[in-house]
Amino acid sequence: MQIDAAGLLDTAQFIASPNFDERPAGTHISLLVIHNISLPPNEFGGNGVLELFTNQIDPYAHPYYQSLQGLKVSAHFFIRRDGLIIQFVPCNMRAWHAGVSSWQGKERCNDFSIGIELEGSDTMPFTDAQYAMLIAVTQCLCSRYPIQHIVGHADIAPGRKTDPGPRFDWQKYASSLGDHEYLKTISCS
Ligand SMILES: [Zn+2]
Repeated sequence: MQIDAAGLLDTAQFIASPNFDERPAGTHISLLVIHNISLPPNEFGGNGVLELFTNQIDPYAHPYYQSLQGLKVSAHFFIRRDGLIIQFVPCNMRAWHAGVSSWQGKERCNDFSIGIELEGSDTMPFTDAQYAMLIAVTQCLCSRYPIQHIVGHADIAPGRKTDPGPRFDWQKYASSLGDHEYLKTISCS
């Protein structure tokens, strides 16, 4: 598994999202943010997330989708229940996944982070295939960028966001990563 100079992962299917822009000049990518998402909520395997990240969601396809109308969001990666990985934004660019957020006093976490969405919800465990892919991607990203902290969306937007939620196994994830020269924090919330 490799990431090229533009920040594209060779094993990912690339589906371009229009929801991105430049990172501020001189930004080091130092944070990895783990999320969960499913659309419709708690339903897996459909195209809702792909449609959301490409501004193609049909607000009439599901009652919940009306609340998503006009939303311009994206993440760098989306890992399906079967471990398939899709990339929407090259890592060198800023994806729009964190929203209003701060980590250790630094606001606008989108500026300096990479966002990984796991297909899932706060109430269901994630699959072994998802952990395997997440761990492989994390190792790849940590070897390519000076990632210092790995956190959940809830850690950078407390009170506003809860993902990846209580069913995400931080211990399992952390223990599989081993020692990394840059990594200072991995959330255990
Ligand atoms: Zn999130």
